[in-house]
Amino acid sequence: QGNLMQGKRGLIMGVANDHSIAWGIARTLAAQGAELAFTYQGEALGRRVKPLAQSLGSDTLLACDVEDLASVDAVFAALKEKWGTLDFLVHAIGFSDKNELKGRYADTTRANFTRTMVISCFSFTELARRAAPLMTEGGALVTLTYGGSTRVMPNYNVMGVAKAALEASVRYLAADYGPQGVRVNAISAGPIRTLAGAGIADARLMFNYQKRNAPLRRTVSIDEVGGAALYLLSDMSSGVTGEVHFVDSGYNIISMPHPDALKT
Ligand code: NAD
Repeated sequence: QGNLMQGKRGLIMGVANDHSIAWGIARTLAAQGAELAFTYQGEALGRRVKPLAQSLGSDTLLACDVEDLASVDAVFAALKEKWGTLDFLVHAIGFSDKNELKGRYADTTRANFTRTMVISCFSFTELARRAAPLMTEGGALVTLTYGGSTRVMPNYNVMGVAKAALEASVRYLAADYGPQGVRVNAISAGPIRTLAGAGIADARLMFNYQKRNAPLRRTVSIDEVGGAALYLLSDMSSGVTGEVHFVDSGYNIISMPHPDALKT
């Protein structure tokens, strides 16, 4: 418990269940006094998100599918009505057809490429465009990315291409909204067992590989991602924008597995 987020109001997008990265972020921010609103994708997930939101004292639960811009507009109309202003936004949304999260990137279809890009990348820009006008006292936006953006991870495929575009859009948005005091950053998380993560072929194998080979010799928890989000969304990081911050047990710095790991 602390008060780093006291007096700040923010929107959490991307809670599907209590394994979601967005959930780890939400409970970390709430423990520091943040007032939260949540979105959910579809009624089935809504039933799961409701008790979670309530457990953090939130009574603002809004339906939102980022493919449906009317639902996105409705979210910001509701927030404007309820709060008037906004201090932060968490975008923890990603999607690609499971059938293309295996095999070769080269075989990606145009339809899934477009859909993956719109949901996993461009939605962040569309949300920033709507959130920034409500951030009259400045604000902060955070999205979630993965190291498959800059290095080839087997099976991550089109999602890696979308994450590369997402990270580039973090930099462009940081430049666009910086003058009004709105900061834009990404957290690059190591593999975590979530609904979205399970869609990637051989996910368990990649999870265990990183566990064996990352400098910390373990994977990361959603609460550790929450800690980084707390830093990036609070005034602790007031001089930081346009960054991709790794929370991955140091995996991204490694060039090859440690010989000890190869011997076992
Ligand atoms: P998750 O399945 O818990 O969350 C993904 C969320 O995206 C869900 O809440 C889902 O409802 C939402 N979503 C998908 N399509 C949507 C749409 N059209 N409109 C609105 N919401 C939509 O999984 P997660 O792992 O917590 O994923 C959150 C973010 O973290 C994603 O961007 C993911 O790529 C990223 N990430 C995950 C890992 C990992 O290993 N799990 C690692 C690095 C980055």
